[in-house]
Amino acid sequence: TPLSHIRNFSIVAHIDHGKSTLADRLIQSTNTVADRDMKEQMLDSMDIERERGITIKAQTVRINYTADNGEDYVLNLIDTPGHVDFAYEVSRSMRAVEGSLLVVDSTQGVEAQTLANVYHAIEADHEIVPVLNKIDLPAADCDRVAEQIEDVIGIDASGAIRVSAKTGVGIHETLEAIVQHLPAPKGDIDAPLKAMLVDSWYDSYLGVIVLVRIMNGKLKKGDRIRMMQNGSVHHVDRIGVFRPAMTEIDELGPGEIGFLTASIKQVRDTRVGDTITHEKKGCDKALPGFKPAQPVVFCGLFPVDAAEFEDLRDSIEKLALNDASFSFEMETSAALGFGFRCGFLGLLHLEVIRDRIEREYDIDLITTAPSVIYHIHMRDGTMQDLHNPADMPDLTLVDHVEEPRIKATILVPDDFLGDVLKLCQDRRGIQLDLTYAGARAMVVYDLPLNEVVFDFYDRLKSVTKGYASFDYQMLGYRTDALVKMQVLVNDEPVDALSTMVHRDRAEARGRAMVEKLKDLIPRHMFKIPIQAAIGGKVIARETLSAMRKDVTAKCYGGDATRKRKLLDKQKAGKKKMRQFGKVDIPQEAFISALKMD
Ligand code: GDP
Ligand code: MG
Repeated sequence: TPLSHIRNFSIVAHIDHGKSTLADRLIQSTNTVADRDMKEQMLDSMDIERERGITIKAQTVRINYTADNGEDYVLNLIDTPGHVDFAYEVSRSMRAVEGSLLVVDSTQGVEAQTLANVYHAIEADHEIVPVLNKIDLPAADCDRVAEQIEDVIGIDASGAIRVSAKTGVGIHETLEAIVQHLPAPKGDIDAPLKAMLVDSWYDSYLGVIVLVRIMNGKLKKGDRIRMMQNGSVHHVDRIGVFRPAMTEIDELGPGEIGFLTASIKQVRDTRVGDTITHEKKGCDKALPGFKPAQPVVFCGLFPVDAAEFEDLRDSIEKLALNDASFSFEMETSAALGFGFRCGFLGLLHLEVIRDRIEREYDIDLITTAPSVIYHIHMRDGTMQDLHNPADMPDLTLVDHVEEPRIKATILVPDDFLGDVLKLCQDRRGIQLDLTYAGARAMVVYDLPLNEVVFDFYDRLKSVTKGYASFDYQMLGYRTDALVKMQVLVNDEPVDALSTMVHRDRAEARGRAMVEKLKDLIPRHMFKIPIQAAIGGKVIARETLSAMRKDVTAKCYGGDATRKRKLLDKQKAGKKKMRQFGKVDIPQEAFISALKMD
């Protein structure tokens, strides 16, 4: 295809504004997929993604479109993840395309992720076509939303296309706008091969699949290619495009997006953002690469049944093969035995991986409280990263502690503004800005990441009845008065319940935690003290009183089956418990104890 007849684009939107539905409609209306093969949300391929209605990995589809001018075009759509955890993936896929459709729900207007994502598009120098979606709904207010796009984002929305991805209205206009308003890619077919490694993932049949965008030159089946970052050479055994099913073709030219396979064993052997060229007569200057995504949230994953440790290792290694942003190392906990300390891009990423281990590998897990990475500056002048509060060095050796901070942008209707400000204040936030974006307040806060990772998003949704939207970016590290709080159950420290807290909040946090644990831990035959302590000093204490727990005592005499049933139940319940000294602590206690409400 000549360059002038290629258009590469992505769709940016806030979650639920209709990105996937619009993508489906574009695919369907161009007969890219036969109607009988069309299922909803073509691009959200993983089960969990479909279930949760989110896209995690960038997905690609090549669409053939005959425009009103009679010419045939190739349109390449890269669908990007819509969740803040994966913002990094969004910004990098944007570098592979020249334009974006900005989809805004015309009943809702601009939201926090609309802003975050459109800024990625602007940074990547995209031409942007605004699309007002869901015009079939009575609450649609296109004029107001178009005005808001101009006010808040500062792009011309007078020509915004009015669309119902549901009914198909405006889909033809959208396709025409892509052809007419988005620029064709540039590139030189005679220059040495220069291709951007946009993404890679593991496929159990084909091995590692590499998504590439060709900048210059031609990539053919059988070529010997070189990854410019580490110099490794591979033999290309397949080239193809997504329609959206994988379809092999013979070559890819400038401006085109497609995949290659080259008997690469591990996703880790490919570096996203790397430049691919030919082994011989390669290009001499690589594209500016991008930094790898860094995990920011850490937690421990332990098997409920210690016998499943090897299975857990196996499942974690398999998942990591396909996800370079997920990190892990072995961890031993006095309380929980053998497990892994794992790093994630955010809470959603954590949940997705945990779900997959539990469902696809059928392993019951204990997840410890998520934590961020602290910088511990020692008195001897050295600095160490702390991934696990349980490993906090002795306080007498520590000079000061730094924690990561974020810049959070929250859009919220006026009515709930007070609640949002209070929530941010409670989480040690510093207000940076408060402006109005149409009928909504836009609040910008500097917040400690550790106050956000756990349940901030849930709290925000609940205090605003779901009306607030949220996005964040990392700001860097700052010193604060942080200490390690320990929890002792029956006088024994439970390392998996250790957390870093701000000194001023420690007492309140400690009290809340022991009160919660008192409810979460079942009564035993003896009484159990539950304490929170900082450096040996107890700051809160509760006592769980004793009881008899012989459940069968309730069955008088005869009914043996009922007795057995009750005992079985007790045993099953016990499997979900962990013993600490003489005390059983239920699995959900480790997370619930840390919720702050
Ligand atoms: P995404 O999160 O941006 O990918 O959003 P989806 O495409 O999953 O859409 C979110 C919800 O809005 C789904 O329930 C869709 O069926 C619905 N939806 C999408 N487009 C339209 C539309 O044009 N009209 C109406 N009424 N509903 C729509
Ligand atoms: Mg979607």
